[in-house]
Amino acid sequence: MNLKLGALEAGGTKMVCAIGDETGRIFEQISIPTRTPEETIPELTAYFKERGVEALGIGCFGPIELDRRSPKYGYITSTPKLAWREFDMAGAFAGALGCPVGFDTDVNASVLGEVTFGQAKGLSCVIYLTVGTGVGGGIYIEGRLLHGMLHPETGHVLITPRKDDPYGGRCPYHKNCLEGLASGPAIEERWGDKAANLADRPEVWELEADYIAQALTGYILTLSPQMIILGGGVMHQTQLFPLIREKTARLLSGYIRTKRLDDMERYIVPASLGDDQGIMGCLELAARARAKS
Ligand code: ADP
Ligand code: ZN
Repeated sequence: MNLKLGALEAGGTKMVCAIGDETGRIFEQISIPTRTPEETIPELTAYFKERGVEALGIGCFGPIELDRRSPKYGYITSTPKLAWREFDMAGAFAGALGCPVGFDTDVNASVLGEVTFGQAKGLSCVIYLTVGTGVGGGIYIEGRLLHGMLHPETGHVLITPRKDDPYGGRCPYHKNCLEGLASGPAIEERWGDKAANLADRPEVWELEADYIAQALTGYILTLSPQMIILGGGVMHQTQLFPLIREKTARLLSGYIRTKRLDDMERYIVPASLGDDQGIMGCLELAARARAKS
């Protein structure tokens, strides 16, 4: 049975909309800039309505409310993007489209895309970390997307700054968190040029890998993932991968030994679905919402 499913990757700068099916096939896709909800939501709902989707999956920037017992379920909550604060995202689409709506974080959608359609198929504990404008992670654990109290905020784990790094960090909440020290804008501010222009400066990636490896070591020891997938704009610097693998292994210091850790090249890996893991994960969120309805 092929369903007509809608997928929406809702980001702070752009909204990616796609139509596809439960096998992860994408038939069409558009991207529109994110303005205010008053301007943007009608455009989005019209797109999905015209195409008659049977269900919609939304992978959304956050923080968002995922507790179904909360009256604020489906809301974007304390986001710094003020126009979207306290906006009932899932409700706006459910109301306008009258179809089931699946709702989760953008990064949980990405990890779901990878475990459903990508290289992590068959695994039960997987982390997807994006290093881009922000840093965030989706966690699939024992076969489910992890929400817990709110949802994981893996980009804000604290990092020990290297002694020779004078940069103060740019997260307004914690100076020395991973996002504050290692996001694309942090690289740009520290080194005075766009991350993409710094490809031939080994010291940039050496430091970047140090910080990412610290965070991964913490995730590995806490969650025991079977695979860690790294995506986002900064990870286009593929020279980071061997550095991160080597530094993570060094930080773990042989304390845990597993077959997967012995095969670092297949343990810490780039995303496998081009840049479609997020939107494909949204298709799966839609399929799941429909199956539950
Ligand atoms: P977002 O996080 O906004 O969804 P991206 O994942 O594309 O979007 O991340 C954008 C960030 O990634 C920017 O800070 C940009 O400087 C950085 N970036 C984009 N392309 C590259 C590249 N080729 N090398 C290094 N950094 C990059
Ligand atoms: Zn932070």
